[in-house]
Amino acid sequence: MSGSIPEKWSSKRLKKGTAGSRWRIESELAPVPAMQRRLEEKYGGRIPGKLFLKKDSHLPIVGSVKARGGIYEVLKYAEDLALTHGMLKKTDSYEKLAEPECRAFFGKYTIQAGSTGNLGMSIGVMSAALGFHCIIHMSSDARQWKKDLLRSHGATVMEYGGDYGEAVKEGREKSERDPASYFVDDENSRSLFLGYAVAALRLRKQLEERNVKTDDDHPLFVYIPCGVGGAPGGISFGLKQLFGDTVHCFFAEPVQAPCMALGMITGLHSKICVQDIGLTGQTHADGLAVGRPSAFVGRVMEPLLSGEFTVRDARLYEYMRDCLETEKIFLEPSACAAFQGPVRLCSDKAAAAYLEENGLKEKMEQASHIVWATGGSLVPEEIRKEYRETFL
Ligand SMILES: *Cc1c(COP(=O)(O)O)cnc(C)c1O
Repeated sequence: MSGSIPEKWSSKRLKKGTAGSRWRIESELAPVPAMQRRLEEKYGGRIPGKLFLKKDSHLPIVGSVKARGGIYEVLKYAEDLALTHGMLKKTDSYEKLAEPECRAFFGKYTIQAGSTGNLGMSIGVMSAALGFHCIIHMSSDARQWKKDLLRSHGATVMEYGGDYGEAVKEGREKSERDPASYFVDDENSRSLFLGYAVAALRLRKQLEERNVKTDDDHPLFVYIPCGVGGAPGGISFGLKQLFGDTVHCFFAEPVQAPCMALGMITGLHSKICVQDIGLTGQTHADGLAVGRPSAFVGRVMEPLLSGEFTVRDARLYEYMRDCLETEKIFLEPSACAAFQGPVRLCSDKAAAAYLEENGLKEKMEQASHIVWATGGSLVPEEIRKEYRETFL
């Protein structure tokens, strides 16, 4: 295990990554009219209103939605540690956290997480930047390039044969045995959830800047890919606080791993997994290969979530190519799951019933649709090529 901070993730580099955003970790909200036309032509059915892409795929530092929750949780842990050990006072500049005394102090602690890839990258990078030791427990479906990248920056990567739930379990147990270790628990963490929720405040401002109306006559539809539930849950929770009934949040999950839908429909939440009903839990969608949902997100979402869409892996690659061809934006296949939202909302019977029941049918021309693109900008070129050439 290396305690030194790799040059690549030095605070200078972090500063550069967030330059232009005043150190903020935030992404662009982009109109995608050409993609909207492509979806209409290729998959049938008109999509009334305007389509936008929320490009968390291009978030600074780690290029995925996990930058929101993961980086926040590591910073919060560092802050708590430093405050309780007298390394930092609330009145100090928080730049102190990056100074050598703090780094040496953090070097006595270990941060661990279970991950299919992107969460690990976000926790690993931020932990290393502050001087923590870091162990990431990876499931067997995690991509080699993500493991390599983490290792090259000083994190220890442990691999497990089983799925994501197993990696989390192993990591949690290993962390519990070490009093100087902190476990970022994707299945239970409130900090991660709240880190994601901040997106709502930023989005409101971006909508205002683009003169996008959101009110009784201008509904807002938001579609987010869902794995264990923390990211889409946190973002939706934030949005519902700000926009109330004006916003309609939908999750998208792979057909073989719809753990959140299953947990919510049965009311059993984390007490049921997709394998229990004969599904494999396997999918090409990195980050969405989750068999068992978060222990608390589904319950929080019960009164807030408008619906769920499932999507086949083959379609993810189609959406990915569509977006690349029409908008010149590369997204990783899992991030494309959310395009299923606007496509199905405007063609599906159950969705039509939802629009009817909520008095939305006549308002759809004034609607805004936001597809939440959750990852992609760090995917290496050779893997992008492999994705572009995948037809299932
Ligand atoms: C993690 C992830 C998600 C889903 O987030 P959860 O908190 O697991 O629900 C979606 N897309 C990508 C690319 C991810 O890495």
